[in-house]
Amino acid sequence: MEKTEKQTILIIEDEEAIAELERDYLERAGFRVEIETDGDRGLKRATDGDFSLIVLDLMLPGMDGFEVCRRLRERKNIPIVMVSAKKDDMDKIRGLGFGADDYVTKPFSPSELTARVKAHLARYERLVGSAQTQENEIVEIRGLRIDKDARRVYLNGEEKIMTNKEFDLLTYLAERPNRVFTKDELFRAIWDMEAVGEVATVTVHIKKIREKIEVSSADPQYIETIWGVGYRFKA
Ligand code: CA
Repeated sequence: MEKTEKQTILIIEDEEAIAELERDYLERAGFRVEIETDGDRGLKRATDGDFSLIVLDLMLPGMDGFEVCRRLRERKNIPIVMVSAKKDDMDKIRGLGFGADDYVTKPFSPSELTARVKAHLARYERLVGSAQTQENEIVEIRGLRIDKDARRVYLNGEEKIMTNKEFDLLTYLAERPNRVFTKDELFRAIWDMEAVGEVATVTVHIKKIREKIEVSSADPQYIETIWGVGYRFKA
């Protein structure tokens, strides 16, 4: 796809040397880059600005990266790549499903960051970029409306903001009603990786989706738990 305008990336990072290194590499890769050095300003900038992707440090002065990610997700569906210096925490962070699209552990090679940023932008472009010209593909079940091209979910006409993975998981299930999937199968289908100790991620994402679309999580109308097996989307 030809781009006439450069895509702009916002880096929210309090360590100046790291922020500048990230900026240099991303600029070299053809992006415009802006930097914010604390959480509160970063969130405001990310919310108000027109960015293609956010590179978000976890430990920040003011509001931390978790909170920035959570609040930004309530408002916008743009790719967020979260960066943390604490290697051991990464699995935990990922499992908690904070809504970031990717997690990178410091120290990373700047080329690795650039590659991840490019991959997420390309994926996002593929998913939303083609939505303008043709009629959108819609999945509709009992008041739940999934616009696959615009990647938006509505419940009885009210939009429900989903993270990318929540959207993918919900859509995957909704398009295959009445089929029972194990967490393992869902993890492999959505995360595109071998499921080694990652099934908790599926549980967390199902919980988040239910909070958004179910009236009662004890009596779910859409995604049913099949005890000891996995999940099924009710037709
Ligand atoms: Ca930091």
